[in-house]
Amino acid sequence: MIAELISVGTELLLGEILDTNAQYLSRQLADLGINLHWRVTVGDNLERCREAFRQAMARSEVVIACGGLGPTPDDLTRQALAAALARPLEHSAAAWAEIQSYFAARGSTPGLHDRAQALVVPGGRTLPNRLGTAPGLYLTAGPTHVFLLPGPPSELTSMFEHQVAPVLSLLPGRAVLRSRRLRLAGMGESRVSQLLEPLLASANPTLAPYAGQGEVQLRITARGQTEQEAGRLVEEMEAQVRAALPGLIYGADGEDLETVTGRLLGAYGLKLAVAESCTGGLLSHRLTNVPGSSAYFLLSVVAYSDQLKTSLLGVPARVLAEHGAVSAEVATCMAEGVRDLARSHLGIGVTGIAGPGGGSTQKPVGLVYLALAGATTRAHRLLLSGGREDVKYRATQRALVELWRLLQAEAVALR
Ligand code: AMP
Ligand code: MG
Repeated sequence: MIAELISVGTELLLGEILDTNAQYLSRQLADLGINLHWRVTVGDNLERCREAFRQAMARSEVVIACGGLGPTPDDLTRQALAAALARPLEHSAAAWAEIQSYFAARGSTPGLHDRAQALVVPGGRTLPNRLGTAPGLYLTAGPTHVFLLPGPPSELTSMFEHQVAPVLSLLPGRAVLRSRRLRLAGMGESRVSQLLEPLLASANPTLAPYAGQGEVQLRITARGQTEQEAGRLVEEMEAQVRAALPGLIYGADGEDLETVTGRLLGAYGLKLAVAESCTGGLLSHRLTNVPGSSAYFLLSVVAYSDQLKTSLLGVPARVLAEHGAVSAEVATCMAEGVRDLARSHLGIGVTGIAGPGGGSTQKPVGLVYLALAGATTRAHRLLLSGGREDVKYRATQRALVELWRLLQAEAVALR
């Protein structure tokens, strides 16, 4: 069972909007165990759109097109499909009645252009649109199942979920796909790939590394005849990956570092406070994105001024003068100062130069000092690359990685 997506819209080709519909549909097809082999993007052009349908129907058994179903003259998807099938469009009384009732429910009446939305390709079944006026369409042409879905993402996802997925899930010939994303921190993609060399060649399950934001993710995808078979293949691969990368995998799928560290803090009953310069509160933001974080997150101080680092966090003016605000010593004093202020078990201090200005040869842009104060205090010197936001994000990522490591090694002792 091979599927193909056709995204229709000149705005997509101009780069004005991202094709989030294709991303959504790709994920849904993967979950349904349907192999997506092609994704085609075509502008609002009748001839090229017709050609896209002709080509797709010749090589794929499931064709899903999105966009171009609206009432404006550039909405040509129905016409293009009708042309590709050589079946002239017909007015559908049922579709028209539904469009009229959509308008009536909102106290208005459809305009002349809205009649175009009631045109259907003969042999097709309209798919009602709960959230808009443009109905979708489902038809079969020989062995191919064709779906036309509206462009607005909320309409598309609702229609897919309620009217397309139920049809697709009954099609024969689907394999069962299971996948799992392992997330690891503290090692770059190339080194990870090196360590996984033999496993990366596996055909089923496949193992593929992705560079995430400040971390590497490994996607395991297995294909089986049954859920059990696919699940077992994923588990076996996961065990091998974990053995090859001891102590590096912090979570899987939707578990991010803030969730995982939060869970550890909660489980051990440890409290945390944070002092940020350079990251402007981003570390606190990420930590507090986790529901329930107020159970362990006590205090955040965002202090950019030297004076306030001294008066609020107790960083000695002498240390600031001697080593500069961006130094291991100041990061250490910030971490210890905020820990003491909050009377928490743990304190984190971050200070650095996010750029683009303010760097020097001795202290370049991207230089960040990070300190974690627990039973003892450890400072880390980081040299981060990228623009201002990258440096800020990567600094918080390293802070969370070091917090995770510390919690694994010392959580029991800190209680
Ligand atoms: P259309 O049905 O082509 O007129 O699209 C209506 C609106 O849906 C567009 O203006 C976009 O905002 C949105 N849209 C269309 N296609 C996509 C797509 N592939 N991904 C995300 N949004 C889309
Ligand atoms: Mg369009």
